[in-house]
Parts: sequence; C-alpha cells; structure tokens
Amino acid sequence: MKAVVWHDVGNVSVDSVPDPEIKHPADAVVRITTSAICGTDLHFVRGTMPGMRPGTILGHEAVGVVEEVGPQVRNFNVGDRVVIPSTIGCGSCAYCRAGYYAQCDNANPNGRDAGTAFYGGPRQTGPFDGLQAEFARVPYAHTNLVPIPPGVSDEQAIMVSDIFPTAWFGARLAEITNGDVVAIFGAGPVGQLAALSARMQGAGRVLIVDGNADRLETARLQNAETIDFNSEHPVESVKEMTGGIGADRVIDAVGVDAQMPKSGPAAAEAGQMVGQFGDEQEKTAPRIAPRDGLWEPGDAPSLALRWATEAVAKAGTIGIIGVYPPQHESFPIGQAMNENLTLKMGNCNHRAYVPGLLSKIAGGRADPATVWSQQKTIPTAIEAYERFDKRVPGWTKVTLDVA
Ligand SMILES: [Zn+2]
Ligand SMILES: [Zn+2]
Repeated sequence: MKAVVWHDVGNVSVDSVPDPEIKHPADAVVRITTSAICGTDLHFVRGTMPGMRPGTILGHEAVGVVEEVGPQVRNFNVGDRVVIPSTIGCGSCAYCRAGYYAQCDNANPNGRDAGTAFYGGPRQTGPFDGLQAEFARVPYAHTNLVPIPPGVSDEQAIMVSDIFPTAWFGARLAEITNGDVVAIFGAGPVGQLAALSARMQGAGRVLIVDGNADRLETARLQNAETIDFNSEHPVESVKEMTGGIGADRVIDAVGVDAQMPKSGPAAAEAGQMVGQFGDEQEKTAPRIAPRDGLWEPGDAPSLALRWATEAVAKAGTIGIIGVYPPQHESFPIGQAMNENLTLKMGNCNHRAYVPGLLSKIAGGRADPATVWSQQKTIPTAIEAYERFDKRVPGWTKVTLDVA
C-alpha cells in the first residue's frame, strides 16, 4: 500500500510499504477513506518533537471502513464506517475507565509511565504506524474505533479524530463557565475549533490571537474577536478589550513551534528574548534540518505560554493543548504562582469525547468541517505537507482523500 513515511528530520516521502496485518486478537485493520495532516506531524518533520524511528508511517487522524477484525473484537463488523481517535487506550485499565485514555496503563509498549500512546509518533509513544496510509492496524479495536452516525460526512468525521476533541478538551481544561471572556492563542485548525468549543461551553466572548491574516479572517467569520500579534501587542490588546482585567480563561493552541512576531510592538519586546528562546530551542529540538524556508522550527518556543500567563486575569485558568515535548522546561511559574492561576494541560483523552461530538454533529449542533481548507491525495501528500508547513494562506487544515 501507499503511505507517508518519516525517514529523518526534514525528510518524508510517499512510499510503497507492506499492508498491515492483525497481530493480536483485539486488533482490527481499517481501510482508510480520509486521513489528515496535523500540526503535530510538522513537529516531527521540523525536529521539535524528537525521537522518531525511521520508517514510521505518519498520521494520527483518520476515518475509514473496517476491513478485518480479530476474534476479540465483538462490537464491529467488516464494512462499518468508523473514526479512529488519535490516542490509543486499552479500555480496561483504571485510567481508561476514568476517561484518561491518554494515560492508559497498557497501550504504550514502553510501559505504564511512558506517557500517551498514539499513531505515527516518536519511539516513546509506541511507536505505532500512523494513519496517512491506505490501511491501518488499530489495537484494542473494541475501544479505539468509534462508529460514525448516519448523516455525518467524512469531512466532518475526520475533524473528530483529533482536532475537535482536542479543542473541546482545551476548553474543558480552561474551566470555561457561562459568560467567561476566553482568549485563545493560535488560530490554526485547533484554535478555530477551540473558539467553537468555548462558545458551545458557555463563553460570553471569544478573543483569538494569531499572526496570519487568513487564519484571523476565518476566526472572524465565526465571530471571534481577532488580535494580530504582528500589528499589536496581544497582551495589551486583551487587557484593553477587557477593561484592564484580562481574559478569565486562556487556551494555548500554539505549542512549541511558536513564532516570533515579525513587526509591531510585540516584535520589539520578543526581540529581547532571543537568547532565552535560542536556549529553549536547543533543548527541545537538538536536531533540525531547515531548507529553503521549509521545516523551520518555531523560533520562540515558550512565547505563547508567556503571553497566556500575562493575558489571563488574576485567579484565571490556562488550558494548554499546544504540544510541548518532555524536554521543554520553560514556563513562568513564579508569575503564575503570584497571580493564583490555575494551569491544566495534557494530551487529549480523545476517546472520551469522540462519541459525544459525533452525536452533536449528527444533530446539527456543530459543524467542524468549516475549518477544513484543502483536500489532497496520498500521492500529493508531500506537497501538502510543504504548503501547510509554510502556512501558505488557505492551507489551514489539509485532509487526504485516500479512497
Ligand atoms: Zn492531529
Ligand atoms: Zn487503558
């Protein structure tokens, strides 16, 4: 079959690889119909999430049709349409039962303390082959497949594989209550859906910060109040827009590949942090391979967290869903301490939210496909990676039509 394969930092290609097979009685093999490229995949190619094993198939977002099931899969039939949630749980341990699928005791072959198991990630996450392929093996398939209700399209369902649950989880981490002013850092696909989630969870106002005009335009179309960090200082603007108080709740939907502002008052201030950011980058991304403007790691790893800490009101909450690797150690803890902030973070427990979000979509109460911007196929996936990496206007979320 054809699949997108990680070879090295800065080196991914579409290769012919062996079809996956049932290895364990609780496995299923799914024929992928739609996959997607995620900002997390870019971290692996840029080197800002190190530890990838050469030969790993990339991708952790997919929708498909059940092709084959092992004898321990009693709840799916060949031919069922399913979403594959990005993170892998066993469905039996205490963590899975409590809804903490991303902290499952059994799914990660590296042991219970190794952290989240997911498709297409670094060694410490499995590694499991990913979902940017024609077929995929799904372990503990009784738990890690979710049926798609009638009337929900592939374009809608693919958003529920990772980014909508992650955004929803971010809004939950931020403890949004009715009437809250919520500020979201990052207007990429997850940030856009965080705006939708925040509103669905009761936010009174949603402010969104980014430096890309097309992404801010998309956010404004869903009535979020936009802030451009390349022309204004985002922290000052949040304060100004909230009577000097700040946002009650902040969601970091940026993560380690945060970029320095290129112009405006925030650029001058961030410029004084170049040394600090350089040290952070060395630690988080020891190996990088940028070329011709491609695969550039973010040059300000902790900037979104710093802005979040300054833009939140005293005694407010920050929910962190932007990705940071274990090596990232930079956070303004003193400031958070002295403002009685609440910090919550983590990898999304996708499986806990996927069924509920699918039923909201089926009921017409949410349409996450509004952030979907480009559709490509597996043979043209590398070109899509490159455009998404360069943040070419209009390339906010790329889905891959596989079938
Ligand atoms: Zn993703
Ligand atoms: Zn488990």
